[in-house]
Amino acid sequence: MRCPFCGFEQTQVRDSRPTEDNAAIRRRRFCSSCQARFTTVERTQLVPLTVRKRNGETEPFERDKLERSMSLSLRKRPIEKEQLERIINSIVRQLESLGESEISSVAIGEMAMEALSNLDLVAYIRFASIYKDFSNPADFQEFVGKLKSQTATDLSEDGKSTRKPGARKKDKDSDPSSSQEKLL
Ligand SMILES: [Zn+2]
Repeated sequence: MRCPFCGFEQTQVRDSRPTEDNAAIRRRRFCSSCQARFTTVERTQLVPLTVRKRNGETEPFERDKLERSMSLSLRKRPIEKEQLERIINSIVRQLESLGESEISSVAIGEMAMEALSNLDLVAYIRFASIYKDFSNPADFQEFVGKLKSQTATDLSEDGKSTRKPGARKKDKDSDPSSSQEKLL
């Protein structure tokens, strides 16, 4: 770091410590040429994420929007708000750690589906029905059919999944695609 007083290139760090909120690090620096002391601050710089939609348009990534679409899928499901918060935090961290500034809405949707599939299968199916743009009952049946064969082993292994055979019918009754805004 160049000395702001004399322009000398090689200043020394004398001390580094995090700020009180732990969001930054302050470094006390010393210029061995002019003996000046100064401080630099290091902070995380998050790259603003841009979402590329299927139609090619881009828009800034909005955590709230992701949260809205996921919580619509979770309506009346026995999932605490904190659980949703946690999975959204985890998705956002994954997105940030990709190191890309632009992410496709498809990739985000896949992450959301993946997270929901581990959380609540009814919500997962609801989300998928909108995300994958099911346009008729056959799309729906095909998806659930695949799901059944995929999860048959999971269900018998850990019993963690709460999905029951009746879930499909119930979900169909409250078909979310008719009233809800299109996801992502
Ligand atoms: Zn200096």
